[in-house]
Amino acid sequence: MKKHNFSAGPCILPQEVLKKASEAVVNFNGINLSLIEISHRSKEFVEVMENARSLVKELLDLPEGYSVLFLQGGASLEFLMTAYNLMKIDGKAAYFDTGAWSSKALKEAKLLGEVDVVASSKDKTYNYIPKDYTITNDVDYVHLTSNNTIYGTQFKEFPKSDALLVCDMSSDIFSRELDFSQFDLVYAGAQKNMGPAGTTLVIVKDEILGKTGRTIPSMLDYQIHISKDSMFNTPPVFPVYVSMLTLQWLKDLGGVKAIEKINKEKAALLYAEIDRNSQFKGFAEVEDRSAMNVTFNLTNEANQEVFDKLWNEAGISGIKGHRSVGGYRASIYNAMPIESVQVLINTMQQFEKQVHN
Ligand SMILES: *Cc1c(COP(=O)(O)O)cnc(C)c1O
Repeated sequence: MKKHNFSAGPCILPQEVLKKASEAVVNFNGINLSLIEISHRSKEFVEVMENARSLVKELLDLPEGYSVLFLQGGASLEFLMTAYNLMKIDGKAAYFDTGAWSSKALKEAKLLGEVDVVASSKDKTYNYIPKDYTITNDVDYVHLTSNNTIYGTQFKEFPKSDALLVCDMSSDIFSRELDFSQFDLVYAGAQKNMGPAGTTLVIVKDEILGKTGRTIPSMLDYQIHISKDSMFNTPPVFPVYVSMLTLQWLKDLGGVKAIEKINKEKAALLYAEIDRNSQFKGFAEVEDRSAMNVTFNLTNEANQEVFDKLWNEAGISGIKGHRSVGGYRASIYNAMPIESVQVLINTMQQFEKQVHN
């Protein structure tokens, strides 16, 4: 039987997507060729790329004037690319430091200009989202991580300022309805909520580009990728295809509005159990809790072996916390069925009974 997969990334994908993807590897759309052995310039693949891009626009309800790209290098390369494309020579940017990914992003930006850390939650192992900050009006852009995958915190509201707003949405894109007109650039590694590892989604407002006075290496230049429809070099055909299938799955399910409702339900169930069960405590501040990555610890670490044995026996996989936080992390992305969340909750209740006796 398939395991209940709570992995943080790469992570669960819908079963039907995995099935279709595996079929396409052998015989794509009945053309008697594999998806991964045809030219990326063939009409069959160009159609995949165009379909993937238009699904992104439709599902996120993107306003006019934004381009959608499927690139490579992961969110980690975007840490550098965003700075390359937006930081002016002798420029300055404002960064929120809300976790390991944010701090890696600002480290790259420092290679190209001045970085003003406007707020940090490092003092409490990143278990909250800072709300007290000032963004000065001399910055080229503001950067933040909407969902902190490792710590289980999530921005519920986004800062308002005159500067451009850049957001790493790797672990919560397509999970909730947002007004995308407030963002100027959004990026997300596919492997958390969209597809397999190997492609990065970038959404960028066209008019913000080409204003830094910098010479940008071709592969790092968003304008070049836009002008070539994400085919400046050979695109990662398989990850783009599987992302397209996942987006189609989401659309058929009712889109982002429908999945947001289910995501909220799953998160509410799990957090309610963490708060009720005397054997567990939540890691993140209650008001900043993530609906995607649920982090928690045992109240008595000595019982760890008992709990680990129970969830293993229940067919649960991937709930060990990140090494920097410890404890547990249940990632409940879009494709995670509510039934699996219920299995975890039942296991937590069984554990409570067992250690009480
Ligand atoms: C996983 C993750 C990253 C890193 O993504 P890569 O694709 O491995 O570079 C960056 N930001 C966030 C929020 C993540 O969850």
